[in-house]
Amino acid sequence: QESKLRQVQKMEAVGQLTGGIAHDFNNMLAVVVGGLELARRSIAKDPDATGRHIDNAMEGANRATALTRQLLAFSREEPLRVEPIAPGALVAGMSDLLDRTLGDAITVSARDQCGGWLTCADRHQLENVILNLAVNARDAMGGRGKLSIVTATTRLAEHAIGRCPAGQYVTIAVTDTGHGMTPDVMERVFEPFFTTKPIGQGTGLGLSQIFAFVAQARGEIGLTSTPGKGTTVTLYLPRHIPETVAKPEPQVEPVHAQP
Ligand code: ADP
Repeated sequence: QESKLRQVQKMEAVGQLTGGIAHDFNNMLAVVVGGLELARRSIAKDPDATGRHIDNAMEGANRATALTRQLLAFSREEPLRVEPIAPGALVAGMSDLLDRTLGDAITVSARDQCGGWLTCADRHQLENVILNLAVNARDAMGGRGKLSIVTATTRLAEHAIGRCPAGQYVTIAVTDTGHGMTPDVMERVFEPFFTTKPIGQGTGLGLSQIFAFVAQARGEIGLTSTPGKGTTVTLYLPRHIPETVAKPEPQVEPVHAQP
């Protein structure tokens, strides 16, 4: 009985999911087709306009690519490769990518206060999570402002943040100077397909994916936001303490008593 119910719930979720995706994908294709159609019409007499229409079409196609990529990440068959990671070094390694993604009008600063603490994660996944947060920050800042990423450490009491167990955590806090969120938006941001962005621009999958990543790592997400001021998203990931390789006991030859 129970498993039937779960089955029905799952089918409903799949239905909602595919309906939402089909809708978004259709909108993006409409942008591509519309742009190409206009380009076709203007190609003989107005090369500038043609260029713009083609750019629009490309943007639509790029969004569709981003959407399918996100979906693939969701359903990804690739096994995770979980390894010890120093969060500060991971962020430092992303600085070129972040600069390029955020543009010249956003200054990015990164500070590492992890003092050598590690966490265990799939490197590729964690990079994607940080990139997703940075892109959200960029969108919230309208392409202009300050983004800071601080990696640090903390000890949490039981359920201090959400449901995470007491223990030692590394934190990755991404702060922007964007438009912030109202309390009712904050309540819904982790729902799949919840987006406040214009049709075709947001998939509403970014934060729900990050939520899934953090849950799987047995961590938590903290969210603070002030409308008109900015937002901080903080990831709490359990500290990984490498097993110290025990030095082998010095082998002492047994001393045989002389007869
Ligand atoms: P998407 O970015 O595709 O809309 P997300 O799940 O990443 O999907 O985000 C959901 C919504 O949460 C966004 O549409 C936006 O309203 C809000 N949001 C996310 N990050 C921020 C941020 N840094 N500042 C303000 N609002 C944000």
